[in-house]
Amino acid sequence: MLIVQKFGGSSVANAECVFNVAEIVTEKYKEGNKIIVVVSAQGDTTDDLIEKAREINPHASRREMDMLLSAGEQISIALLAMAIEKMGFPVVSLLGWQAGFNTNSTYSSARIKRIQTERIKAELDKNNIVVVAGFQGVNRFGDITTLGRGGSDTSAVALAAVMNAEICQIYTDVDGVYTADPRKIKNAAKLDEITYDEMLELATLGAQVLNNRSVEMAKKYNVEIEVLSSKSRVPGTKVKEAAKMEKMLIKSAAKDTNVARVMIVGIPDVPGVAFQIFSRIAKAHINVDIILQSVGRDKTKDITFTVAADKGNAAVAALKEYIDMVGAKEISFDTDVAKISIVGAGMETHEGVASRMFEVLGDAGINIQMISTSEIKVSVLIEAKDADRAVSVVHAAFFDDSLAL
Ligand code: ASP
Ligand code: MG
Repeated sequence: MLIVQKFGGSSVANAECVFNVAEIVTEKYKEGNKIIVVVSAQGDTTDDLIEKAREINPHASRREMDMLLSAGEQISIALLAMAIEKMGFPVVSLLGWQAGFNTNSTYSSARIKRIQTERIKAELDKNNIVVVAGFQGVNRFGDITTLGRGGSDTSAVALAAVMNAEICQIYTDVDGVYTADPRKIKNAAKLDEITYDEMLELATLGAQVLNNRSVEMAKKYNVEIEVLSSKSRVPGTKVKEAAKMEKMLIKSAAKDTNVARVMIVGIPDVPGVAFQIFSRIAKAHINVDIILQSVGRDKTKDITFTVAADKGNAAVAALKEYIDMVGAKEISFDTDVAKISIVGAGMETHEGVASRMFEVLGDAGINIQMISTSEIKVSVLIEAKDADRAVSVVHAAFFDDSLAL
């Protein structure tokens, strides 16, 4: 069986961690599997390198940034290979270009174009454990590129796809995906399985377990992922096309406090207003999440929408001129809000999920300001101060018998 294993920065942070990873890798190797290991830079190395660059030149070109940042992974692959060597197993470490990662030339957020697998295959044929630097590749000019922060998940999934691996195991500092944040909700439970679509919804909610691009790629090429921890040797959560049919309607309840609500009050109620507003927002490269438009009255209406918390200012600035021109009463934003969401493919075929969520929030005296839904997600915007309590009552409604407050 061919297995791709990926270890994040915290899993290889120091010598002890590196040996722990070497244990995990060689255990699987001893069972007779072929192993490709993808690693990130140790601990905070990438952040430290960015800091070093700032000291020299805060406006360094992206090409030189990639040259610098790719060094982090060069260190970790060599150290891991040395640890595996010391344990007496055949191993070889490869940089992105050596492993055949060809990318486009968008430095610092390059896309993988193809992976030339000859070298990796030759090493596997020699029974070597192959340790590959994540997050990096080479463009057609022979220059080093990187895939963007958190990009080694994508390196691992891409390798699993082209090599037709049995599974891509992604080791992180959490041991799986939970029904809610286990640090906040006592009886949050670990999920055995979750679908790609559910995982993508959770990732955009800020549950940063896996890099989004890696999940999109896994979905596209049907690569089964397992999220697990390198510290606790227990099975993790599998991310795959169709999770086994279970009675679970909802997979997870999550909160996102990285939200700003922008309000435009008293804008003329005429055709084209929404286009004028949101085309300006798009031009400013601001992502809009929930949108609410009030019913017109006195020939005016209100439009409210949400953006990431740090984009509130920019959103208002992008609209200032237009608002002045057409004469709206007011534009403002506040960040005193939170988005609470429930995610689950099961709700596609079951009615009443959204209303149950609204019911328990109402019973808890929590006011809903905005609502948005997709086939597999219901989100509400509420006051930030109610966020934790909201997750707790919503989680209880779908996962317990008793409402613990
Ligand atoms: N070392 C890179 C980063 O910190 C890539 C990764 O960790 O996936 O963003
Ligand atoms: Mg990292």
